[in-house]
Amino acid sequence: MNKLLSVKDLRKVYHTLDDEIVAIDDISFSVLEGEFISIVGPSGCGKSTILSILSNLVPSSGGEILLKDSSIAYMLQEDCLLPFRTILDNCLIGLEVTGKLTDENKKYVIDLLNTYGLGEFIDKYPSNLSGGMRQRVALIRTLATKPDILLLDEAMSALDYQSRLTISDDIYKIIKQEGKTAIMVTHDIAEAISMSDRIIVLTKRPSTVKKIYKIEFEDKSTPIENRKRKEFSGYYDKIWRDLDVHI
Ligand code: ADP
Ligand code: MG
Repeated sequence: MNKLLSVKDLRKVYHTLDDEIVAIDDISFSVLEGEFISIVGPSGCGKSTILSILSNLVPSSGGEILLKDSSIAYMLQEDCLLPFRTILDNCLIGLEVTGKLTDENKKYVIDLLNTYGLGEFIDKYPSNLSGGMRQRVALIRTLATKPDILLLDEAMSALDYQSRLTISDDIYKIIKQEGKTAIMVTHDIAEAISMSDRIIVLTKRPSTVKKIYKIEFEDKSTPIENRKRKEFSGYYDKIWRDLDVHI
């Protein structure tokens, strides 16, 4: 498969007035076209920083990022929907600010909303939607500019457990159906195993790559189904130990 993105020897040092924080010491990984990658690691190890660097919001302090003919879009933890804009207008924001609001692109967004069960909410406001639906809208807003790679930062963590399972399934299906490549940051090991092709486990700060797991199930399916596979707990135990989490 085509390699879309390579991160080589990435390093990030944050400078504050009286201190220097080495957030990322040395991280390398690559991402293949169509892959779903998760990054897990202890809180504060630099997961969000990696996504911010990939989306050019924060400069790196060293290393290289090689992106092959592809564009990146970032989906944040909070859905950040504007309450005074309709669902459609919320989804069109990215196209507006990048000057790409053509009839064709608008139709693409309307089609996405219809395809993914939000057609009847096009002219409604965010307050009319459940948390899970809002998250789906946020995903469609991120897809509007037709990025190749989606970055998801703890995208489901604001939701309750039950909604989380369902929306993980929804988000996974939309990403796969639209043929996108995804890099998801999460602290939820089960979520990562259920959704990913590969999981990158980071050490605590200053972070390096501790291990990379290829997630294989005899019968790979949707995230909810994958949780029931016999291989699931084996991956869970290994990653749990890698993260050195004490009960
Ligand atoms: P994670 O997402 O894994 O929890 P972050 O990438 O948010 O971690 O942060 C990594 C480390 O860098 C943390 O110790 C955090 O306090 C520090 N950090 C993040 N952003 C800044 C900033 N703008 N200035 C200074 N330190 C920062
Ligand atoms: Mg974070």
